[in-house]
Amino acid sequence: DATQPEIAELLARRQAHLARPQKNYYAAPPQIERGWREHLFDVEGRAYLDMVNNVTILGHGHPRLAAAINAQWLRLNTNSRFHYAAITEFSEQLAALAPDGLDAVFLVNSGSEANDLALRLAQAHSGARNMLCLLEAYHGWSVASDAVSTSIADNPRALGTRPDWVHAVLSPNTYRGTFRGPDTAANYLGAVTPVLEAIDAGGEGLAGFICESVYGNAGGIPLPEGYLREIYAQVRARGGLCIADEVQVGYGRLGHYFWGFEQQGVAPDIITIAKSMGNGHPLGAVITTREIAESLEKEGAFFSSTGGSPVSCVAGMTVLEIMAEERLQDNARTVGDHLKARLAALIDRYPIAGAVHGMGLYLGLEFVRDRTTLTPATEETAAICDRLLELGVIMQATGDHQNVLKIKPPLCLSIESADFFADMLEKVLAEGW
Ligand code: PMP
Repeated sequence: DATQPEIAELLARRQAHLARPQKNYYAAPPQIERGWREHLFDVEGRAYLDMVNNVTILGHGHPRLAAAINAQWLRLNTNSRFHYAAITEFSEQLAALAPDGLDAVFLVNSGSEANDLALRLAQAHSGARNMLCLLEAYHGWSVASDAVSTSIADNPRALGTRPDWVHAVLSPNTYRGTFRGPDTAANYLGAVTPVLEAIDAGGEGLAGFICESVYGNAGGIPLPEGYLREIYAQVRARGGLCIADEVQVGYGRLGHYFWGFEQQGVAPDIITIAKSMGNGHPLGAVITTREIAESLEKEGAFFSSTGGSPVSCVAGMTVLEIMAEERLQDNARTVGDHLKARLAALIDRYPIAGAVHGMGLYLGLEFVRDRTTLTPATEETAAICDRLLELGVIMQATGDHQNVLKIKPPLCLSIESADFFADMLEKVLAEGW
């Protein structure tokens, strides 16, 4: 246990030497020292329900995962330039999870890296540079993945500073976008046409299109019905490749689907994954066709020292094994459906609760000051998250306006924990929001 002065001193040291852009998500963040399932515990012994963790899908402190990683570390961990069973077996397992034809796997260490590589693949395969992406999106921090990230939540200058090969199209946000409701694909696609025509007129071709299959940064909003089918067709007609960023949405979190793109009835040319696949261990992957993968050879070989290391592969395979045994995708569906219904009930009682987005354990509760103008309740959302922390719930905001609760807990969330979250949220809203 730590005393208050010790906690304050560690926080001051953090502020002194951890570079400032790595922000604190609370003014006085709890100092976490232990995790178990969907719970976190701080150095003063307080328990928190972790409703934000989109990485730790199995839950915190899973003993079997820890044992498997420990055993592999003791036996072998090495630079991925060697041949060992785990890299073969994990690649096979990932290929088997992907749609037919996507059976070539690259193993990396994070979502940013996976998206960076996917962009390089699209550019190498097409021989073109231009990429289509969506406004209000986030794909990573590295130079290329950041270039296609247009969210202004963390970077208000994002829209004015994209490189010339990035072409961002109207955000198909069916709740607060230019066109509203699920049947707006034609309207949003109409806004894409002039962008594609300008790229065609430029004569340099189109490398591809990247987007999250369910719109995570915007709060888990499904894309308009039929949107991906049509935009994928238009991109492919120009020789471009379609990249599905499944870093957050994929891997069973939706409950009703393993992959986000299934919800739109499409299959991409390239899938990127990270977060969940390592349950917190740094792990990412790109899954594509053999032909697309091999187009990178025009630029030389691909190599990542620790991407696909023996420990990473064992971590990844153990996550898949535990997910299947504990039926975590099913749990995401049943507990997620229950939680979504509880959140939807808040809309009837509290005017600030504008809408519930998403499915499974990929939900967003959007707060507005006015249901007609949809004015984002940004400051209120921050205050609600602070109050939830006092009540033992870790919850944070997402979206360009930081007015959507980012509800992405471990997939082992119990019904009791979902109810505790809904009860605490209702208690806070009843206090006067
Ligand atoms: N894509 C999406 C959709 C993400 O949410 C994130 C992380 N928030 C990334 C990519 C980047 O992943 P990483 O932080 O592992 O680099």
